[in-house]
Amino acid sequence: MRNFLVAGNWKMNCGPEETKKLLQGIKNSGISIPETIDVLVCPPMISLTVASDELKDAAGIALGAQNVHYEDNGAYTGEVSTQMLNEVDCEYVIIGHSERREYFGETDQTVNAKVKKSLSDGLRPVICVGESLKQRKAGEHQLIVRKQVEAALTEVDEEDAEDLVVAYEPIWAIGTGETATPDQAQEMHKMIRGVLSDLYASNVADNIQLLYGGSMKPHNAEELLSQPDVDGGLIGGASLKADSFTEIIKIAD
Ligand code: PGA
Repeated sequence: MRNFLVAGNWKMNCGPEETKKLLQGIKNSGISIPETIDVLVCPPMISLTVASDELKDAAGIALGAQNVHYEDNGAYTGEVSTQMLNEVDCEYVIIGHSERREYFGETDQTVNAKVKKSLSDGLRPVICVGESLKQRKAGEHQLIVRKQVEAALTEVDEEDAEDLVVAYEPIWAIGTGETATPDQAQEMHKMIRGVLSDLYASNVADNIQLLYGGSMKPHNAEELLSQPDVDGGLIGGASLKADSFTEIIKIAD
């Protein structure tokens, strides 16, 4: 069966110094990460090198970036390539977070290009999808998310699909303290699993980890993670403190 994946999306928080401190806090918490739980931290680009060094003696915690470009190199001011992420030992990369879609012009097409490039260069994409409050109120949430998943996976073959992670993050729940109910999360995750099994063999679709994101905290993690198609969390605010992040890891266990 699927492992849980507890992933921290640090967003634009923690430069190198703070990154070191936060990771030391996680390590010093004495938590031992069981084999059935995957743990991931995604600091800002500038902190990846420090994080990579700090994680060398932290068994079971993987490193990821929050974005990547789909070209190999060249005149793309401010961007970072898959090769560069590989060099600092990233295993994962978050792609298409709603904040990147909203503030940095990411589209379903750029998300798809980034997903394909990451997979071909050995990085595991954490593909983010999710509807706005307006779309949910209009009853369009299933359709919107279905389209986002299909678009992100255009021309992604079955073999590569084994390395994917999908994060369902309703925009109205991100950083707002409002969380999807466990039923709402399960409904959407089940739908996403259905889309994946339309695209790929059912054993492949069944093995893809589906994360919930949007104000996951220690007090609501248990209920969310008990849903059959919720395989972990993409955690923003609560991943910035060693105690709340490790608390969620313990709850997943
Ligand atoms: P949040 O962020 O946990 O602070 O809501 C989640 C995310 O945006 O990935």
